Amino acid sequence: MTHSLLSPPPLKDDCFSLPPGVNWTPVDQALDMLRARLHPVVAQTTLPLDQAVGRVLAQDQAAKRANPPLPNTAVDGYGVALASVQDGPTVLPLLPGRAAAGAPFEGEVGQGHALRVLTGAALPKGVEAVVLDEDCRVDDTHVAFRGPLRSGANMRKAGEDVDAGQIILNRGRVLTPADLALASATGLSDLPVFQPLRVGVLSTGDEIIPPGGQAAPHQIYDANRPMLLSLLAKMGHAGVDLGHVGDDREALRSCLDQARERADVVLTSGGASAGDEDHVSALLRDAGALNEWRVALKPGRPLALGQWQGMPVFGLPGNPVAALVCTLVFARPALGLMAGAGWSAPQSFQAPATFSKKKKPGRREYLRARLRDGCAEVFKSEGSGRISGLSWAEGLVELPDGACEIAPGDMVKYTPFSSYYA
Ligand code: AMP
Ligand code: MG
Repeated sequence: MTHSLLSPPPLKDDCFSLPPGVNWTPVDQALDMLRARLHPVVAQTTLPLDQAVGRVLAQDQAAKRANPPLPNTAVDGYGVALASVQDGPTVLPLLPGRAAAGAPFEGEVGQGHALRVLTGAALPKGVEAVVLDEDCRVDDTHVAFRGPLRSGANMRKAGEDVDAGQIILNRGRVLTPADLALASATGLSDLPVFQPLRVGVLSTGDEIIPPGGQAAPHQIYDANRPMLLSLLAKMGHAGVDLGHVGDDREALRSCLDQARERADVVLTSGGASAGDEDHVSALLRDAGALNEWRVALKPGRPLALGQWQGMPVFGLPGNPVAALVCTLVFARPALGLMAGAGWSAPQSFQAPATFSKKKKPGRREYLRARLRDGCAEVFKSEGSGRISGLSWAEGLVELPDGACEIAPGDMVKYTPFSSYYA
């Protein structure tokens, strides 16, 4: 065989154009498929309120008690029955004693009397309105003010916030500090929550060296593992560091076998393409469990999704920029669903662009971006190896699947990183 056979292949007609959209799964369709196929995989436990923040509620919760449990006063002032109040100047004798928060008045406030009441005090029988201090003149025995009063003025009704038995928090809720206030106020002290989703993170590639290790000039430090593990922590999952394996199918196989004991789902990075050294996709394919998702997004192809003996594996691209975009766009909602929190889309908004950009149809595109003075600016280079741009960015600008031409001042869709994780 002569080497003349090894002449380079002719350029394809379309070598500079993007792959035709028809052969690629649009982002939204890929997300719909994930949403339809995944479900919660985590067990439940019960936690006291002070340990429950950030956890996913496993069952709807009903208030054990109304808030407020009794009618109370919203201000410092004087409680009266409406029948005691004139349409104009009103003077009433004061009952002895008072109602304060935590120290109720045991008697009744009948017609022709007023009672001193302090903010938060449960109101005794008979009080139908409270007159604000600033609207009163008082001496040792009487209070004077001007009527009429509105029924319920300056009072909080029993249960006006929450009724006993009312559902206050729904299953799937990621518990916030305010949720804990609501739970406590309505009589709850423990909450059923899901166990955190255990997400293994594995870096692959012969060139990858762990942070701080001895790196030969041809080797590079692992950027993905610290990024993905910390990202998972921010998303409320339990990251499991599966370390690094070289481009070696057997090592990868045993690593995935062991991961099944420690993780509910695994994110690998690198080796997910169809090249000679792309062992993640090759191994999953051999196991008959690969779905190579040619998702029409940039940066980020290809995304290998598979199952290793029942354990979902997201084979992310090795490129840190693509790995982050794929994690935020695909893995984040999928992990949320598996963690019991349901499917959620990040909160985005429109902002005027500071940049120009012409985009061909076929792939949805995500640009590293940030807001300055209310405008979206993008990183100077789109090179997907530029990790400094990831660090520079505070969010992503999403350009639609179709063609578009953006000029400065045009509105673009911006999603801050804080919408993807807390
Ligand atoms: P691959 O997906 O394995 O073809 O890798 C694509 C590119 O990402 C290559 O330049 C890799 O060296 C690089 N890469 C892969 N894994 C990592 C990692 N963990 N940290 C930094 N770069 C990586
Ligand atoms: Mg590789």
